[in-house]
Amino acid sequence: MIISIASGKGGTGKTTVATNLARSIGSGVQLLDCDVEEPNAHLFTNPSFEESETVFMPVPEVDEEKCTYCGKCAEICQFKAIAVINENVLVFEELCHSCGGCWEVCPEGAIQEGGRKLGIIEKGHCNGMEFVHGRLRVGEAMSPPLIKKVRGYQNPEKLTIIDAPPGTSCPVIASMKGSDFVLLVTEPTPFGLYDLKLAVGAAQILNIPHGLVINRSDLGDGKTKEYADEMNLPILMEIPFSREIAEAYSRGEMLVDVMPEWKNRFLELHDKIKQIVTSNTRY
Ligand code: SF4
Ligand code: SF4
Repeated sequence: MIISIASGKGGTGKTTVATNLARSIGSGVQLLDCDVEEPNAHLFTNPSFEESETVFMPVPEVDEEKCTYCGKCAEICQFKAIAVINENVLVFEELCHSCGGCWEVCPEGAIQEGGRKLGIIEKGHCNGMEFVHGRLRVGEAMSPPLIKKVRGYQNPEKLTIIDAPPGTSCPVIASMKGSDFVLLVTEPTPFGLYDLKLAVGAAQILNIPHGLVINRSDLGDGKTKEYADEMNLPILMEIPFSREIAEAYSRGEMLVDVMPEWKNRFLELHDKIKQIVTSNTRY
């Protein structure tokens, strides 16, 4: 089973839920941190990393000895990532989407496949749990290919928990796609509700069953619960505001380590998700 933990906006407690759920279930779990622009699950889980892989994206490399400056590569590129100006071929690697169009159309075979570094993937273990995360190279804008590489480490023998990036754009879709369940972490504020609605829309488009965790549930207003009622969305867990929880988070400590009574609540959350997935209920 693959459970993605997502949130329409950052700072709602998504990583807290992902890491504590994974830690509570323990062995047989793998935690994939797909928030490659700002991975932070390792700060709480403290894995020991055993493997690392540098990930590259194919980009064109032009052999000017063979090039006749015909311009066919620039014509086919939909992303303006290659331009032919007089007797110069310019490649703008940051714009390239690696579609391969230019090297397919080049009549002279003058384009070779080069590589642009996207980032690295690190794999390790913590307390019997497998941990994988990606780190996007500073300045790199294209995170979905790196996210797909992180997801390539999915082990079908294990329960996979994915810490998705915040938002509802391409990186989130790349993280959630193919999941059995999306757990949406939100907070009961107008901003939280606005972004939650977008995140619910994304889960609906992907046709993945989903449910809510409301963090700092005793603050804010009741509009999030009204929305959940209206949409028939199950609220699977509520985490009230607590100074102890906030302090533990700021020290990089896990909620279930500081307040062990939370372990059973996270295990109950896992049971509720399993029930929804096995009963094939769609929300
Ligand atoms: S298609 Fe090939 S030959 Fe034509 S300009 Fe581009 S690299 Fe040069
Ligand atoms: S690989 Fe595709 S996106 Fe990249 S430069 Fe060639 S045509 Fe453009």
